[in-house]
Amino acid sequence: MNALTERAEESRAAVLTVDDDPAVSRAVARDLRRRYGDRYRIVRAESASDGLDALRQMKLRGDLVAAILADYRMPELNGIEFLEQAMDIYPGARRVLLTAYADTGAAIDAINVVDLDHYLLKPWDPPEEKLYPVVDALLDAWLESDHRPVPETKVVGHRWSARSSEVREFLARNQVPYRWYASDEPEGQRLLAAAKTDGLALPVVITPDGDPLVEPSDAELAARVGLATTPSKDFYDLIVIGGGPAGLGAAVYGASEGLRTVLVEQLATGGQAGQSSRIENYLGFPDGVSGAQLTDRARRQATKFGAEVLTTREVTGLEVRGPARRVTFADGTFLDTQAIILATGVSYRRLGAPGLDELTGRGVYYGSALTEAAACAGQDVYVVGGANSAGQAAVYLSRFAKSVTLLVRGPSLEKSMSYYLIKQIADIPNIAVRTCTAVTEASGEDHLERLTLRDTGRDTTETVDAQLLFLFIGAAPLTDWLDGVVVRDARGFVVTGPDLSPGGERPRGWPLDRMPYYLETSVPGVFVAGDARAESAKRVASAVGEGAMAVMLVHRYLEKP
Ligand SMILES: Cc1cc2nc3c(=O)[nH]c(=O)nc-3n(C[C@H](O)[C@H](O)[C@H](O)COP(=O)(O)OP(=O)(O)OC[C@H]3O[C@@H](n4cnc5c(N)ncnc54)[C@H](O)[C@@H]3O)c2cc1C
Repeated sequence: MNALTERAEESRAAVLTVDDDPAVSRAVARDLRRRYGDRYRIVRAESASDGLDALRQMKLRGDLVAAILADYRMPELNGIEFLEQAMDIYPGARRVLLTAYADTGAAIDAINVVDLDHYLLKPWDPPEEKLYPVVDALLDAWLESDHRPVPETKVVGHRWSARSSEVREFLARNQVPYRWYASDEPEGQRLLAAAKTDGLALPVVITPDGDPLVEPSDAELAARVGLATTPSKDFYDLIVIGGGPAGLGAAVYGASEGLRTVLVEQLATGGQAGQSSRIENYLGFPDGVSGAQLTDRARRQATKFGAEVLTTREVTGLEVRGPARRVTFADGTFLDTQAIILATGVSYRRLGAPGLDELTGRGVYYGSALTEAAACAGQDVYVVGGANSAGQAAVYLSRFAKSVTLLVRGPSLEKSMSYYLIKQIADIPNIAVRTCTAVTEASGEDHLERLTLRDTGRDTTETVDAQLLFLFIGAAPLTDWLDGVVVRDARGFVVTGPDLSPGGERPRGWPLDRMPYYLETSVPGVFVAGDARAESAKRVASAVGEGAMAVMLVHRYLEKP
């Protein structure tokens, strides 16, 4: 930026002055600074293009601009043309044209063209009489207008862009505050113009320091919004893979008990629990706790004890190297450790009905009820699933939506959902439950518009208008990358301890004299906790408990492998 920033305090609103004559430019800035320098940042530019660049950068950073003073006679763009373009970037800033007496006609015309607030004749001596009264009045008017600062991360995207929705979900789940701007609304368009992008590639994420990132990857985003992505050491006592309740529990206990611990998470800490709007059955929270709150506390607790928490790092390989264990990341890098706790949980199963894949992120969402809640305002929303996760989502969304229809395949909720939730749902007037119902097709142009529902009891189908569908239809462990490394059951869950040797015999390939510990896999020193474990309870409390217990077994393993 060539504009000369004369006061560097970032938090103050700016007053920009543009004049191609350096002496005049300096004089205006000097006079402005003398009177307003303690309250405003005076920014000076010596050409229209530098002035526009300065405004664009300030826009991206979320800075406020209170007033813009531009000289009329400038070579590239005259002052009126400049103010016209400046208005596209900062429509709320007050606009002043500096003119010579001969140009007053042009200045008067400009009052209509660019909605000029004032013109000032040069020279403006003495400023107490000719400059300050005008600028005082303009700044007072500006202060009375809506000019809330937005210094945080901004996301400009489209409601029906799948990647825009993923990015919002990613930021929300990592507890990064952001402000959302629709790309087809005026402020979104101003931000896209300031970022010099055409809006065809969305979303554009603008970091708090003003850098625009076009369609950033999760890893790029993580690094730019201050999430740790790289380990600080080459070797750890314990690597925890997965940042859900089991992994966070293991990280808290591992680090607090003196193990050099790193937790690696492929997306965002919290896992499934992080997506829950309200967990009501976790010990110690009689009024319930949101998954986001629980995750935030757990992550802070883990880091307080010295655990490193890395996000956007997917583990794709596990290898035994003598006494060490090595995990390989998706980008080919690796990390060595003495022991590993697998806490990779489960992921939502996909529903195979035609149209759903194409519309995922465009009205069809797996989980993610929290981030999309605002979009449900006044809408008829459909939720698929008969378990607690679907029930919680229906309850939560009913606060925003006109109606919520819970679509359940089975004949009732009793078998699959907790009694307290069934009762809550029955008491909420805008939730309807349709049992024996399956989604057989989804359709729409660029977003979900219609669903075909099949009543399996009556064997009838019906097409309904629908813009939002949330699916919570059970989950599968994503453990294919462990194939041939540790023993898994037919559904991919990792088998541990006594289950590895049901007849009491030593598991095949097991190299030690002792039998595997309770949460130990078929590879010594590699443990599993939480939902990824075969026969696990699939509850937050049990996942946390297993994380803690696995650490106890890690200690035992380290003392005597
Ligand atoms: C919406 C919802 C509501 C729920 N409500 C309740 C409730 O009220 N009460 C209750 O007790 N339970 C509830 N549950 C269930 C509970 O959340 C789970 O049992 C619990 O989260 C399991 O924890 P976990 O750590 O084993 O696995 P997960 O929570 O599944 O976490 C696993 C983590 O590992 C990461 N990961 C996976 N593979 C890799 C890899 N290769 N590399 C790096 N990271 C990886 C994933 O991204 C994920 O973050 C709910 C679940 C959902 C989805």
